Amino acid sequence: MIRIHNSLAREKQAFNPIEPGKVRMYVCGLTVYDYFHIGNARTLTVFDMVYRWLKVAGYDVKYVRNITDVDDKIIDRANKNGEPIEALTTRMVAAMHEDCDRLLLLRPDAEPRATQHIDNMLGLIGDLVTNGKAYPASNGDVYYAVREFPGYGKLSGKSIDDLRAGERVAVDGHKRDPLDFVLWKAAKPQEPHWCSCYGEGRPGWHIECSAMSKAELGETIDIHGGGWDLQFPHHENEIAQSEGASNKPFVNYWMHAAFLNMDNEKMSKSLGNVFTTREVLNKLDAVQGGEAVRFFLLRGHYRSEINYTWDILQDARGALVSLYTALRDVPPEVPPAEVALDWNESWAKRFFDAMCDDFNTPMAFAVLFELRNEINRTRDAKLSGLLRALGGTLGFLQADPAAFVQGTVSDDAAEIDALIVARNEAKKAKNFAEADRIRDEIKARGIILEDGAGGTTWRRA
Ligand code: AMP
Ligand code: ZN
Repeated sequence: MIRIHNSLAREKQAFNPIEPGKVRMYVCGLTVYDYFHIGNARTLTVFDMVYRWLKVAGYDVKYVRNITDVDDKIIDRANKNGEPIEALTTRMVAAMHEDCDRLLLLRPDAEPRATQHIDNMLGLIGDLVTNGKAYPASNGDVYYAVREFPGYGKLSGKSIDDLRAGERVAVDGHKRDPLDFVLWKAAKPQEPHWCSCYGEGRPGWHIECSAMSKAELGETIDIHGGGWDLQFPHHENEIAQSEGASNKPFVNYWMHAAFLNMDNEKMSKSLGNVFTTREVLNKLDAVQGGEAVRFFLLRGHYRSEINYTWDILQDARGALVSLYTALRDVPPEVPPAEVALDWNESWAKRFFDAMCDDFNTPMAFAVLFELRNEINRTRDAKLSGLLRALGGTLGFLQADPAAFVQGTVSDDAAEIDALIVARNEAKKAKNFAEADRIRDEIKARGIILEDGAGGTTWRRA
């Protein structure tokens, strides 16, 4: 029996799916205008872990993760790049898949794109207008009337009156209430738009998840996930839209992944403290990098914030290498596919119980480290097979151990960072000969420097 912390109930609850043995899970995915950052990677990896574990626990899972391919940020970026929106989003979806593959993320069972579900969104908006929960405004926008939905605020624990008093909501003459949110935006020149009975326009962001979740999974689903920041307003608005239209519960278990911070501050584009996943992976050893980042992202409990620094990432990499070292030194007797896990066996049971208790990965990882110590002490090849099989349930320890431990390149990332600092200092001191010398030294190591607005980044050639 799995227990899940349900953000709606604010407590851990026994997980009972709507249909025995089946799970319908929807996770809010990426807005594809740029490479995703290592904070986004955390949320993606957490739900990959949940997906894998539900399957290990015997459920037949349908996992849907949407792609937001029309939105202000995408339109701005495409205009800035001077390229069509579709060219940008197609490129970014391909890059997203590459980076997800490197993190060993399983592909969701469906990845619906907003632009493919405009009709479903208009269908939902129509239902909401018909039953009085939404209204077209004179400017061609359509708004959700939050006061018409009595449950508004139940997920975030905010009441409409608190929200009005506490939040600074822009006064907008077209809305009946400042808290009303947009379902359909009237077309502006130079923006993508679709035909509707309210006039030409494009959907608001929130409506896409209600429409795609319903189209892929039905009106009531088991699990809905996303990062903590989405709880309000995005998920609150999804509830208002879906339940407002269907009069049925939308989601039985809401799950939210806590933030990844950068030096103890939230990582976000607006703060400018962002590392793309690609950039981090390219600094790491090609053999170890993806699995090491994955290990780092899952080492903390998904409801605890985690901190990203290069040293913490290196520490996680070292810990993972130590597990592989035990596998290298005491090779398992049988190939991974032939290890049938017996969940009654005492090590396996502890791992299983930890994972079933709201996906407690730190506790499950602790079992792996104890097992490593036991393998190193006893040289027991059966335990070694068990370690690899347990790791495999969460997407770890399936590479060739000797090759993994060895890696491909020496770990010189810290030295390269120091050389970049030295080069920047030389440039500042107008010592250009020294700056050039350092640049050549970096180049000789097979490193490509990229000087950008946010400073100098690097990658391996
Ligand atoms: P976005 O593309 O900004 O809509 O974000 C995609 C997903 O990443 C959402 O589920 C966000 O909640 C999540 N996310 C964004 N920033 C972070 C962060 N620093 N840590 C963890 N998750 C994040
Ligand atoms: Zn969403």
